[in-house]
Amino acid sequence: MPYALDRANDKDLLGQTPSLAEMTGKAIELLNKNPQGFALQVEGGKVDWAAHANDAGALIYDQIAFDEAIRTAVDFAEKDGETLVVITTDHGNANPGLFYGSKADDHFDRIQTFRHTNEWILREVNNSTTAPALIDKIEFAQGYAITSEESKQVLAHYRSLGGESLYNPRNLPYKELAQIQARYTAVGWGSMDHSADYVELAMLGPGSELLPCFVKNFQLHNLMLDAAGLSR
Ligand SMILES: [Zn+2]
Repeated sequence: MPYALDRANDKDLLGQTPSLAEMTGKAIELLNKNPQGFALQVEGGKVDWAAHANDAGALIYDQIAFDEAIRTAVDFAEKDGETLVVITTDHGNANPGLFYGSKADDHFDRIQTFRHTNEWILREVNNSTTAPALIDKIEFAQGYAITSEESKQVLAHYRSLGGESLYNPRNLPYKELAQIQARYTAVGWGSMDHSADYVELAMLGPGSELLPCFVKNFQLHNLMLDAAGLSR
């Protein structure tokens, strides 16, 4: 699936791919035909990839797409009355935050007018891209003009391409662009890896009263069995 932000601004992708909420609705419709009930897992999986890439626009719009999928599930559960909805994540990642002083609000607001993700920008850049062309591309995709020096910093990476990593198979300069982008969006990052933070966990519906204030993630398995009245 494309990132939600890239999909929203590309007519072809909009026609060719469903949103996470649309897939959630269809899955519920089909599974709900089973008289014995069902378990469905919906993952906003690209939020994790966006965090690994320190890609603020990708992360926020995919998180919103996940939020819309939650609404679809909750709307069904409230009508149904017999469905437990569990909303959580398996880990934190990269710890984005708002930084950089008095203009932080205005800079952060820029993300509202983004058309495309950092990945969309970087995957179309190559060894022959010029500094002015990259500046134009970022301005088109995200509405701000980086400096010539910053553009050259990003492009330098393409001259030394090599190697690859699990979360960055095309070896794109995610980190370099994110560090420059922080000056324009006020979004800074702690890392490009999973974090050891506590994460949010919310439940609603029958069985949600079993949820303690804090729980280890592997204990959720038994908690869900208990909520469903299944033996373990
Ligand atoms: Zn991950």
